[in-house]
Amino acid sequence: MEIALETAVPTYSGGLGVLAGDTIRSAADLGAPMVALTLLHRKGYFVQHLDQSGRQTETPVDWRPEEKLEALQPRVTVEIEGRTVHVRAWQYTVRGVSGAIVPVYLLDTALPENTPDDQRITDTLYGGDAEYRLRQEIVLGIGGVAMLRALGIDGDVVHHLNEGHASLATLALLERQREGRQWEQEVSEADVAAVRRQVVFTTHTPVPAGHDKFPIDLASRLLGAERVDLLRRAQALDGDWLHMTVLALRFARYVNAVAMRHQEVSREMFPQHEIEAITNGVHAVTWTSRAFQELFDRQIPRWRHNNLYLRYAVKIPLEEIRDAHAASKAVMLGEVKRRAGVELDPKVMTIGFARRSTPYKRADLIFTDVDRLREMTRRVGPMQIVYAGKAHPHDEFGKQLIQRIYEASTKLGDALKVVYLENYDMTLGGILTSGSDVWLNTPLRPLEASGTSGMKAAMNGVPSFSTLDGWWIEGCVEGVTGWAIGEDRALPQDPSHDAVDLYRKLEQVILPLYYGLPYRWAELSRNAIALNGSFFNTQRMVGEYIQNAYFPNGTMVRPLAKEAVG
Ligand SMILES: *Cc1c(COP(=O)(O)O)cnc(C)c1O
Repeated sequence: MEIALETAVPTYSGGLGVLAGDTIRSAADLGAPMVALTLLHRKGYFVQHLDQSGRQTETPVDWRPEEKLEALQPRVTVEIEGRTVHVRAWQYTVRGVSGAIVPVYLLDTALPENTPDDQRITDTLYGGDAEYRLRQEIVLGIGGVAMLRALGIDGDVVHHLNEGHASLATLALLERQREGRQWEQEVSEADVAAVRRQVVFTTHTPVPAGHDKFPIDLASRLLGAERVDLLRRAQALDGDWLHMTVLALRFARYVNAVAMRHQEVSREMFPQHEIEAITNGVHAVTWTSRAFQELFDRQIPRWRHNNLYLRYAVKIPLEEIRDAHAASKAVMLGEVKRRAGVELDPKVMTIGFARRSTPYKRADLIFTDVDRLREMTRRVGPMQIVYAGKAHPHDEFGKQLIQRIYEASTKLGDALKVVYLENYDMTLGGILTSGSDVWLNTPLRPLEASGTSGMKAAMNGVPSFSTLDGWWIEGCVEGVTGWAIGEDRALPQDPSHDAVDLYRKLEQVILPLYYGLPYRWAELSRNAIALNGSFFNTQRMVGEYIQNAYFPNGTMVRPLAKEAVG
């Protein structure tokens, strides 16, 4: 549903889209035979405005697809509510480090043949109501499969449904399997098996509300009663719901969660299914600051081709790590000055926190006890905090969260400067994850499926300070790659305990280390790169998808002829 291609193509809202973009960038680096499909989102994912109290309002993004994308000829159609909806595609070409490409096709219904309403189907990412969303998912899933065929991409194709938004692709594949037969004819297990051979599915959220589902009446109205009946006979419905995850699970031969802990949670949610784990990553070159790119180019020349070599960061002199970080931090502070007019001090330990503003991420956890924070700053060492993040337009609590950060900022005044930057996007994400001294993350367990911004920080030698959830359970080596907030994940969640632990570690471990032992700190930076940068990247991740999910029998590699094996 969303792919983060570049800052000027606003077709993503957050981590899901960034991950999709990073996946494609690494697939291109590896020369993997892959194409990607998404929607065009002509109105993008809104421009964020914050007033003096931090109240968010939104306006559409003004961008011109024709300036960034190449228009393609083929047209396909999908049936929605008994009408024929025409769909075109635009191409964005992702080029890998060795020149291989992965094309991305962005589907668009803004064609004069369509009714004004249908022309708007591909306008707004996560906008509108359930009906609008289902129309989008019909275009994405069913239109997507049709477009592949129209583009001549056919035959032995593995369809990777990245999240349930694309699940209706399975319906299109089932219909294709049954082409030429009467629709009343029974759906056999052989039909289902034929679809399953072609489908791989990744689930991305441990929050039940994060899984799209639509009432059966709505599905029948938009898809037609016959198609919904077909899904019922294929046992792909969830009672009276068209549940996109249930649909994908029924038709996928391989299913995975996006981190080990997320695998456990997903298995509890869907106990009748086998769910594997492939832990997320980030695209190393995209998320490494200019200064660190230059450092790695000098010290680890092949790192762009093979991210595994980031392991050799262990040999980089600490002085050079410190210099590269200082340069990245200067870039961030310059950006804070330019965007917010606030002058931050480069000598002060700077905490970064940027992600979608939604309640479970608890952006205000660090302000649980403002007096204690002020006191700590005075007694142990100064801090400053840089925030960014958009709240979904309908997420009132997410919006209030931003206002609470503004309130805390006012209360703290000059004792601890807090800056909130508008319009968190790929550019800002890169600047903040590389320029902060500590990357803070405080999700309520177990709601963070993976999280990836801490991986970007690690690429740049920035240690994470995070609750043990998602990827950090795998990436945290206490005092070596960063620090955990709240030690024992077996204990029942007590949010107030997390805040206490956060303060305790800041005061007794992190601030004293930052100001007292700068070279010990630089060792942490180096460990973050060598241990976590070398692993939590999408090159390793795509490799796992290829080996475990797409081609488990090694069929991507053409087998050597018998004689050649000799
Ligand atoms: C990396 C990134 C995210 C995802 O970060 P999380 O830590 O997973 O929340 C979201 N938005 C942008 C712009 C990013 O760059």
